[in-house]
Amino acid sequence: MIEPKLFHFVNHYYDQPLIVERAKDCWIFDSNGRKFLDGYSGVASISVGHANPFVNKAVCEQIELVNHCPMIYQSKPLLKYLNVLQKELPENLNRHFFVNSGSEAIDFACQALRTFSNKPLIIAFSEGFHGGTFQAKSVTGLDAWQPIFGKDENVFFQPISPCKKCPEKIYKKNLENLKGVDIECTAGCLMDLDKFLEENSQNCAGIIIEPILGVGGIILPMKGFFQKLDLICRKYKIPLIVDEVQTGFGRCGSSLFAFQKFGLHPDILCMAKGIANGFPMGLVSASEEISMAMGKKLNFSTFGGNPVSCVAATYTLKYILEKNLLQNSEEIGKFLQSELEKKLSVFPFFREIRGCGLIIGIEVETGDLAKNILISAYKKDLLIGIGGRNRNVLRIEPSLTFSKDMAEMLIEIIVNSFQEQANLVSEGKK
Ligand code: PMP
Repeated sequence: MIEPKLFHFVNHYYDQPLIVERAKDCWIFDSNGRKFLDGYSGVASISVGHANPFVNKAVCEQIELVNHCPMIYQSKPLLKYLNVLQKELPENLNRHFFVNSGSEAIDFACQALRTFSNKPLIIAFSEGFHGGTFQAKSVTGLDAWQPIFGKDENVFFQPISPCKKCPEKIYKKNLENLKGVDIECTAGCLMDLDKFLEENSQNCAGIIIEPILGVGGIILPMKGFFQKLDLICRKYKIPLIVDEVQTGFGRCGSSLFAFQKFGLHPDILCMAKGIANGFPMGLVSASEEISMAMGKKLNFSTFGGNPVSCVAATYTLKYILEKNLLQNSEEIGKFLQSELEKKLSVFPFFREIRGCGLIIGIEVETGDLAKNILISAYKKDLLIGIGGRNRNVLRIEPSLTFSKDMAEMLIEIIVNSFQEQANLVSEGKK
């Protein structure tokens, strides 16, 4: 029989793929019983630890009751979840549509934007990533992920990479003050956007943004950036999609969503990944007006709002709130950042560490160095991720249950992996 294989582009990170056999809290076990510290939580999707008993008990009970219920009917778990979630959302976001992934949420949100505005043009940002379906790829600024043929001509990418070179690169130190600040970012890129909109706003359906550019390399906004963006949205009366697929559900620490932390006002909110602790679910929340406008078209998702995923989402959210994991995310995140910054600054190829809560990026000089460090950490039983336009940013995004002991272990392994690279670099120079 011919050997079945995944598509060539499927990237396993390591020479031989890690065959996962089981996982518990922040630990993953391979088929040989080797135990890894999970610093990446299945690409930022496990919020409350692998196989969380509180979530899984409820999930197992639901499996015995009903596994599938398309939205032409309604299940109790779906209604219960919406009631729990609604308490955490602003009042204007009270209409909801369930899908199965982040990409589908983005697809639906883009359709909603265009249908609501009855205009074609969507503004996205150059370093953004929004998923793998055609529409989600079409609003993704990172070219490696864009569709090859049939690009969506009605997407305008506002460059924001100069942000990284901006002389006011103060975002890292100013997170606490982000809300309601007097604006310090002169927002050159947003001034360009303002000019663009002066000429094109009559065509513009809205803007899509990730509060923190995740796949793009954990890039945070500068102080005041979102306040300016908000002003622009109000000036031209254009709605905003906030993509919280990666940043939502406590990943950014201290608040459930990044839009709350950064003072953004979404008209459409996209959620997925950590929403249901690894069970597939995507969700789009929007206003009455947007929902009404969507009523003119048919939309359906067979598995959207799956009752088992809804139970997982309900108990995940309860667990995050009851166990005060937002605070843990904030505190462990701060500890990781400050310790890593201290210990990594000595390496000449280290560039910067940035992030908030448990979404942390370590930028190094080159993609090759990042890849070598990723592999070196793997050999020392630590799983982390990689991102950035040049693939030179190591991503640390563990479960919100990550403890101080785990953080210390992660730091030690990363520092040792950096040291190993430094030794190789200096040997190469000899
Ligand atoms: N938006 C963002 C910000 C993401 O990080 C991702 C996934 N990395 C997606 C959308 C797509 O989500 P999914 O893989 O669930 O389709």
